[in-house]
This record gives sequence, C-alpha cells and structure tokens, in this order.
Amino acid sequence: MPMIKLPGIIDPHVHLREPGQTHKEDWGSGTMSALAGGITLVLAMPNTKPPIFDAATLDLALSAARSKARCDYAQFLGAGPGNADWNLHIGLPQRSAGLKMYLDSTFGELRLDDMSLWRPHFEHWPLSLPIVAHSESRSMAAAILVAAIHNRPVHIAHISLKEEVLLIKAARERGIKVTCEVAPHHLFLSNDDIPTINQGHPGRGEVRPRLASKEDVEALWENLDVIDCFASDHAPHTLAEKDGDNPPPGFPGLETMLSLLLTAVDDGRLTMDDLLSRMVINPRRIFNLPEQPETWLEVDENASYEIRASEMHSRCGWTPFEGWKVKGRLRKVVLRGKTAFEDGKVLVEAGYGKNVRARD
Ligand SMILES: [Zn+2]
Repeated sequence: MPMIKLPGIIDPHVHLREPGQTHKEDWGSGTMSALAGGITLVLAMPNTKPPIFDAATLDLALSAARSKARCDYAQFLGAGPGNADWNLHIGLPQRSAGLKMYLDSTFGELRLDDMSLWRPHFEHWPLSLPIVAHSESRSMAAAILVAAIHNRPVHIAHISLKEEVLLIKAARERGIKVTCEVAPHHLFLSNDDIPTINQGHPGRGEVRPRLASKEDVEALWENLDVIDCFASDHAPHTLAEKDGDNPPPGFPGLETMLSLLLTAVDDGRLTMDDLLSRMVINPRRIFNLPEQPETWLEVDENASYEIRASEMHSRCGWTPFEGWKVKGRLRKVVLRGKTAFEDGKVLVEAGYGKNVRARD
C-alpha cells in the first residue's frame, strides 16, 4: 500500500457550536470530526450562544474545550459595538486565535451596524494577532480599505466570487496587506449543484456565502495563487433543522476537505505543494501558530472511496458531498507523538487537545 506522510492540517475557520448549541456539535464531536479529516489544529469561530467577546465568554468556551477537545485549538474573539477597547484588557487578545469581525449582517453582541464601529477595532487590536473579516463583495472592499488606512493586515474569510478574488489580487499588487481563504464547497460546488444537494429540501443548499456561479468557481481555480488558505467553514446544523421551517445556512466540512483536495491533486488541478502551503504553511504564518511537534498524517494515496455522512463523527449527520467519489484516504493521524486516529476511529481521549494560545 503506497502510504504518503503529510504534516497535520490547520483549519482556521470552524464552528463548533459550544457554548449554546451542542445538539449540532460540541468541542468533543467537532474535534473528533477534525481528526477524522486529518486536521490537527482548529481555530473556532466566536458566533456561539452566547457569542465569545470578552474574558468571561472566552473562559466559557475555553473551559469546555479544555475538558472535551481531542485536537489542538484556539478560540476567536468576536468584534462588537461595545468591546473595541482591547488595549484596556491586558493579555485578553493574546489568549485568543484572533479577532473575527462580521461586517455583513449578524446578530446580538457581534452586530456592527456602521463602519465607524469598525475602526476602533483596527486601531486597538494588537498587530501581532490576526483580524479576520466575514465580508462579502462590497463590504470586503470596505474592509480592505479600512485595514489599509490603519496599515495593518486583514484576512478575508471564505471568498467565493470572481470579483472578490480579482479585487484581492489587485490590492496585493499594490502592496496592501490582505490575505484570504476559500472553502472547499466554493471550489467544488456551484449554484448548479443546489438541486442535487437539496433532494427536495430547499434548506440544505443554503450556505453563506451562497454557492456561486460556475464562472465564479472557475475564477477561484484560475487565481489559486491569490488564495492563501483552504478553510472548511465547518458549520454544522442537523438535517431536521436544515429541512425545517427556518433552515439555518451552513455546511459541515471538516471530514471532507482533505479528501476533496487530495482528489484535486490526483486530477492535476493543483499540486501537493499548493495543497500543503494552503493547509499548513500559510495558515501557520498568517495566524501566528506554533508548529505541532511529532505530528503527521498517513494517507493511502491510491485508495478511492465514496463520501458517506453515516461514517462521519460530526453530530450533524449529513454532508453536501454525499456519494462523491474521492481518492486519497486518511489512515492515521499522529498528534504530538500519540496516534490520535486510525482506520476510522478516534483514539485520543477528551481533553487531549491543547490550546495553542495558552501560556503555561
Ligand atoms: Zn463561518
């Protein structure tokens, strides 16, 4: 069996749903799902219930993580209208993965109604830590401008459109410090695929940013050199919720990201170096993450299989890639010297995961 060895993968964009919505996912199920997808380090988003936006809520998320996480992690803080005085909270930003700003619509404590609320965050957030913006289309252009005014880098989450990748390219050519990520579902699915995903349930194909046109998808592939990271934007909701009256947008993705991208390597759409720079080297640099010692994956390059939600560890129980044929099967994950996953089973106990921002 030709086995290849790869470094552990970093996923800088996951929703683990704890605190508050653990019927969808929690730090245990979500990090098991990560390991089963070859991901050894996850950065968790702050739009939980309650959202993570101050010392008390950060402690709430981190105490759940400490007892349940099986892979390594860090937790984002969210930017809100009332918490931009980061300079007054000594040491708090340093305990987080970075600052996440929701610049399109969101709710509650993380809602930023106008651009005057953005600037204090860019002013006070420490330069050594990343700012990540959920900003689509024109709000992305505005985020890049505000970051440039404050002469600091900004990372744009999950780009999906041709206009977005071309604007980032142009900004970078002029020396503006902007990086970006793309989610596998925006590389492998277009809005033409929505009926197949839906299976008669219109909520299933709902995701933000929405699945885009074929032309947008092609533009992402054509401008792969502009894309710094791959990120799952793992956003689990149960099928009952997706098929209900108010379907929440979002796809799970932790367990399908690596196999989809390895298949693209096999198809000659990207090289293994392209994959590793976007899943290991660039996220480590952009998010200022430590190396994970004695950590690697073993992948059977030639093993083909069909994606099945029934074999997954995520609590949500479905995938938009059900039945897809992929090539390159993860056999083993070694995390900090310990076999964490082998042949479909997670082998490390709850709490094995380490907070990479903890200072001990
Ligand atoms: Zn997200």
